[in-house]
Amino acid sequence: MWNDKPYYSLDYYLKEKYGEKIYKIALDGGMTCPNRDGSLGYGGCIFCSERGSGDYASPRFISIHEQMEYGRTLFKEKNTGNKYIAYFQSFTNTYAPVSYLKDIFTEALTEPDVVGISIGTRPDCLGEEVIKLLVLLKNQYPDKFIWVELGLQTIHEKTATFIRRGYPLSCYDDAVLRLKAHDIPVITHIILGLPHENMTHYLETVRHLNKLGIFGIKLQLLHVIRGTDLVSYYESNPDAFFLMDKEKYLKAVVSCLEILNPDITIHRVTGDGPRELTLAPLWSLNKRDVLNSLHKYMRTQHTYQGKYYYD
Ligand code: SF4
Repeated sequence: MWNDKPYYSLDYYLKEKYGEKIYKIALDGGMTCPNRDGSLGYGGCIFCSERGSGDYASPRFISIHEQMEYGRTLFKEKNTGNKYIAYFQSFTNTYAPVSYLKDIFTEALTEPDVVGISIGTRPDCLGEEVIKLLVLLKNQYPDKFIWVELGLQTIHEKTATFIRRGYPLSCYDDAVLRLKAHDIPVITHIILGLPHENMTHYLETVRHLNKLGIFGIKLQLLHVIRGTDLVSYYESNPDAFFLMDKEKYLKAVVSCLEILNPDITIHRVTGDGPRELTLAPLWSLNKRDVLNSLHKYMRTQHTYQGKYYYD
């Protein structure tokens, strides 16, 4: 097992690699998203919050250095660990001219206590020029890492259309293969509990990711966040809406973990919506309880990541 946890957590991976706890500082690179500025659409994905799913990021429009300073203050009470991952989280963090991207990524990589950067973006915003830049930075900073995080949410096209993701699965697959060709690790976000999906859909998504050989995965519970278009759907479709209770969610997560390749790192197993903005499900706000329940459930079931994984 991974230091007594039944799955290969990011925390475990980082402690093994750096010998200490590493914290993630969420940043706002000041960009928008083609799904919001009219290039592809105006409304964005139906679950996306006002801050482009970057609700924990530092204030917008201050420099990356200042955002890092702000982020460090949030961890100053913690007694362990003095190193950070600079996480470009809000909106689409490769949706800007390459020269601008170079400046902000370099600013983060040159912070002495940053061990690497993680860039949240869309697969249709990873043209060859952007990938060339990532390779250049990777070579310039060989002692630091560059990760790319892609919000796939599901492999199922019907659901992807419903949530207004705005790109086909083939676009995601192609981006993963191009990044992997340059040894740039990919972390994929998927959402459990999307309307019209069930366990079969989740497991098909996980099996697809196994085949692609991604580096990490975020398993997220669907949250209804105030200010998103999901709210009106939630309020007008009480019967059609499949919002999971805690037990159902734990079972879904465990089933996904059991078939997941044990070499894939787990970056999240819960939702992570801000308390004041989360409309439902409210049980998810007690993150500590969700994690404890998950670990307890997996222990009592004698199960673990990869238990039913096969090549
Ligand atoms: S791609 Fe990301 S930033 Fe853009 S609308 Fe969807 S969730 Fe929000």
